[in-house]
Amino acid sequence: MIKLERLTKRFGDTTVLDGIDLEIQQGEIIVVIGPSGTGKSTLLRCLNFLEQPDGGRLTLGPLNLDLTQASKSEILAARRHTAFVFQNYALFANKTALENIAEGLIVVNRWPRAKAHQRAREILERIGMSDKANAYPASLSGGQQQRVGIGRAMAAQAEVILFDEPTSSLDPEWVDEVLALMKQLARERQTMLVVTHEMAFARDVADRVVFMEGGRIVEQGPPSELFHAPQDPRTRDFLRKVL
Ligand code: ADP
Ligand code: MG
Repeated sequence: MIKLERLTKRFGDTTVLDGIDLEIQQGEIIVVIGPSGTGKSTLLRCLNFLEQPDGGRLTLGPLNLDLTQASKSEILAARRHTAFVFQNYALFANKTALENIAEGLIVVNRWPRAKAHQRAREILERIGMSDKANAYPASLSGGQQQRVGIGRAMAAQAEVILFDEPTSSLDPEWVDEVLALMKQLARERQTMLVVTHEMAFARDVADRVVFMEGGRIVEQGPPSELFHAPQDPRTRDFLRKVL
């Protein structure tokens, strides 16, 4: 359903993504792991066109794009198929939880305010935060803020949600409630591409774990195989440090 071919990204003279091939099936939960500085965030950001790729093709629903030559309208269309959850939540500080969830529907999808607010109330219920509809981010815990960040991605009804280390900024006490919400989405077979260092989450939830190093996919497979019988010495070395 999503097919990425030969994705390349450079920053100056440095090749950060060196020909990434990745297919994601509908309903699939993929966890991306690897050392820091290896290009995991850049991969997600390229998929959402937050970065301009230097090469590659992307097939996404009805779209088949040369990533170096995509037009503005093609990029906008492709963006509607993906939603992004940021490490630092990236909520609007001057908007309530409800408004944060509704904002994209109003601005990007051009929904009328009342309809967007109705959807946002449904989402707040699903993320267990109906009582916080009118709360501003500063009055919410880190866990609650990130649940709103996930709620905003859910509201977009994108084919795939991209999570970039969604629990890395959280105090330890809030990590579980965010992971629980992500597990709920996984049970509903929301297609997800998740960069995380939460190995227990990867083991329990992922259909496939992708290990990246140096801008390349080194090895991938079901968690039962990748964690227990990694084939590449780089994978073994990384797993020894984090497991
Ligand atoms: P990861 O998420 O795996 O830690 P990143 O994708 O953030 O890795 O970064 C990969 C490499 O690209 C790093 O060396 C980083 O310094 C570099 N990089 C990321 N973003 C930029 C940028 N906007 N400008 C220059 N270099 C960048
Ligand atoms: Mg990163």
